Amino acid sequence: MKPIEFADVIVVGGGSCGCVVAARLSENPDRSVLLLEAGPAFSGVADVPAALVDASMLPIGPGSEWIGTYSAELTAGVGRTVARGRVLGGSGAVNGGYFVRATPGDFDAWPQAVWSFDQVLPFYVRSETDVDLGSARRWHGSRGPMPVARTPVDARHPLTAAFVDSAVRAGFRMYEDMNAPDAASGGVGAVPLNIRNGTRVSAALAYLLPVVDRKNLRVQGNTTVTSLMFKDTRVIGVEMIVDGVRRVARSDTVILSAGAVHTPALLLRSGIGRADDTVALGISVTVDSPGVGHGFSDHPEVAVPVATWNDPSATSPALEAVLHAGDVEIRPYTRRFDQLIGGLPRGPHVVGVGLMRSVGRGSIALRSTDPFEAPDVRYRYLEAEGDRRAMRDGVELARDLLASACMSDEVAVSAADDPLTALGTSLHLSGSARMGPESDPGAVLDDHCRVRGVDGLHVIDTSAFPVVPSRGPHATAIMLAERAAALVGVEPAERPGVVGVEPAERPG
Ligand SMILES: Cc1cc2nc3c(=O)[nH]c(=O)nc-3n(C[C@H](O)[C@H](O)[C@H](O)COP(=O)(O)OP(=O)(O)OC[C@H]3O[C@@H](n4cnc5c(N)ncnc54)[C@H](O)[C@@H]3O)c2cc1C
Repeated sequence: MKPIEFADVIVVGGGSCGCVVAARLSENPDRSVLLLEAGPAFSGVADVPAALVDASMLPIGPGSEWIGTYSAELTAGVGRTVARGRVLGGSGAVNGGYFVRATPGDFDAWPQAVWSFDQVLPFYVRSETDVDLGSARRWHGSRGPMPVARTPVDARHPLTAAFVDSAVRAGFRMYEDMNAPDAASGGVGAVPLNIRNGTRVSAALAYLLPVVDRKNLRVQGNTTVTSLMFKDTRVIGVEMIVDGVRRVARSDTVILSAGAVHTPALLLRSGIGRADDTVALGISVTVDSPGVGHGFSDHPEVAVPVATWNDPSATSPALEAVLHAGDVEIRPYTRRFDQLIGGLPRGPHVVGVGLMRSVGRGSIALRSTDPFEAPDVRYRYLEAEGDRRAMRDGVELARDLLASACMSDEVAVSAADDPLTALGTSLHLSGSARMGPESDPGAVLDDHCRVRGVDGLHVIDTSAFPVVPSRGPHATAIMLAERAAALVGVEPAERPGVVGVEPAERPG
């Protein structure tokens, strides 16, 4: 058998959150950190392939080597294949680059002692350098790793410009700063982007790769963690498959950052979940935790087709401005999806309508114990009459704005079918192993992101959100990772701060 690796902390998953956590925890040179990522990893910033940094495209098309997919049911009878990043940087390495904060009111659903808006604001600030507004506003950062910038008004795509005009003429207020604490009241404005000079700056590029040479940090790609190891109710390590070979790594502190689909799957495979879900597959129960995989939330999105008259620019980011009206976000994409995502068949140019607050909750269950088989994901979108009504109203508003005088030079709106047939997902899945009070049986984590019932095990990724925020989740994922990393109290062990190997025979 291969030698066993050890580290003070093992981070499972090198996505948006995992990169932040590994970079922050390895700032202490006496603490060794081992980051295990299922997809490819890179040896430095210069090693990252061009396809991942080119912010004008999303590298998630058929055959992409940077994603994993799962088949899902969005609502009864509507199936989709859904992608997530499977590469260092995770979904944030392949995403649209829209980097907006949650609103202060979104944090009312979070445990207040640790996650009130006042508690989290310093961690949003710490994470960013706002290139446009950084030192001008006290709620912005000017020294953090993630760059934030907006497309200047005079550089906007004609469609964006016409859409903003149309919304303002319809009476919506203009946002100057969508990340300002008072921006929650809605309006239209430029989206903050983690895009700098055409580069999509993922957490891998911003946080991890600049420090990857630290002696106490080891980043291992192409490594799928298959389950967790326990001694009684303490985590003692992980099992993994590297190049087809089964290996183990030991640690008293394991942080799951495998994302909101694979983190609950890994917990379930390790016997942490609803007893019915695990026992049916022959997995013995470590902790009966009914919330694992159950009650997640996301943003349903309906595509409103438009016929564009202007030739779209090939380099605009996918989205430069949005409108927030009530519970919907209207997204005038600058190009067709087949222009943004290589390998897709030609489709219509669309404007997206996202329902940002809904009562629909989904569930994730294992199909089998095979760690390479994606779980069964059911979103239960738009099952509630109120959610359907809000979405129909949003689509109607989008059509009205698109048909207004200032937009009609840019687009023609297609005939109205049942809008809900063009249902998709915003890819913002959150809350599949959520934190919450002990009185909530569905709360898998305490307010320090520790898994209840197991010592040494944490979840730090969007699974931990109590509910998806009413804005895109990426900036909040990075904030969560910053805040939660600061809460992880791991004393370095009595050995040099390096990730090491020990003989397989060593007793556990
Ligand atoms: C195509 C796309 C576009 C999006 N666009 C936007 C946007 O514009 N704005 C926005 O706010 N949000 C957007 N999102 C959502 C946002 O990117 C995610 O919510 C965020 O990146 C999630 O971060 P995470 O750390 O929770 O998970 P991820 O970033 O998904 O990271 C999980 C990591 O864990 C790894 N992993 C999984 N299982 C294992 C295992 N068993 N062993 C080892 N490693 C494992 C994965 O390979 C992955 O690298 C988008 C998402 C997608 C997929």
